[in-house]
Amino acid sequence: MFPQNIDLHCHSNVSDGMLLPADLVARAAGQGVTVLALTDHDDVAGLVEARSAAIELGLQLVNGVEVSVSWGTHTLHIVGLNIDPEHPDLVAGLASIRAGRSERAVRMADQLTKAGITGSLAGAYAHAGNPNLIGRLHFARYLVAQGLVKDVRTVFKKYLVKGKPGYVSHQWADLADAISWIRASGGQAVLAHPGRYQMGSGKMHELLEAFKAAGGEGIEVVTGSHTPEQYPHFANLAQKFGLLSSRGSDFHAPGEGYRDIGRLPPLPEMCTPIWHNWKYE
Ligand code: AMP
Ligand code: MN
Ligand code: MN
Ligand code: MN
Repeated sequence: MFPQNIDLHCHSNVSDGMLLPADLVARAAGQGVTVLALTDHDDVAGLVEARSAAIELGLQLVNGVEVSVSWGTHTLHIVGLNIDPEHPDLVAGLASIRAGRSERAVRMADQLTKAGITGSLAGAYAHAGNPNLIGRLHFARYLVAQGLVKDVRTVFKKYLVKGKPGYVSHQWADLADAISWIRASGGQAVLAHPGRYQMGSGKMHELLEAFKAAGGEGIEVVTGSHTPEQYPHFANLAQKFGLLSSRGSDFHAPGEGYRDIGRLPPLPEMCTPIWHNWKYE
């Protein structure tokens, strides 16, 4: 029997979520989640704490990560599920992405200073639970805390995105490399929230082909980043490309974002779930 409430994408304060890994797991358990993947951006440091909490609370924890990738001019996110967080290829790959994030943060802060917003580097780090993992959401929370912008969603409209102050271009991991680290560690690679990428259908087809050719196995169909109208669209693409389907809230913090942890509709019936042949303890 497959578990009913499965959430395979969320963030703790090891990346840009706000809850400690143990508190995140407790929240998931409280919402009735039976299988949870913690998928912090570019870091696996929360998995040990999450696992102890999961054992205590009786839910299944899937070791996960969300890897930042550059594909041409696009930034993509690849979720790795059932990874081995200690695999040397994965460990080294993620460390190099985190180093890039630190360097990018300095450039972002310089751009914000030029736009008249001071103190953002220290400010962003003050909002980061993990000094090795700095991202745009930490900057966004600093801008909100300073009273400069009303909420993080508005920050991402006015700042930190292409063409706006605080945006800097950045080279993330190569798509094939990211997938190979995930696979080398025994994991499955899932294209996160494909509906968020600003590309036409020709480019999306090209992406799915490249993803599949590099060893990618699944795409997120039901995610907090998709509208309900996008579920059948990506379910069809999954079928067309022979990809498995995944489901995850992309929860970051209470009251921030679109979906709470574990609060998602089921996958469309036509989908083969990424977990269809997983073994549960
Ligand atoms: P980064 O990986 O540091 O470039 O930051 C990307 C993260 O910023 C995403 O994982 C989200 O957590 C957050 N983010 C991106 N766009 C938005 C948005 N429009 N509203 C809220 N958060 C966003
Ligand atoms: Mn995030
Ligand atoms: Mn993402
Ligand atoms: Mn995410």
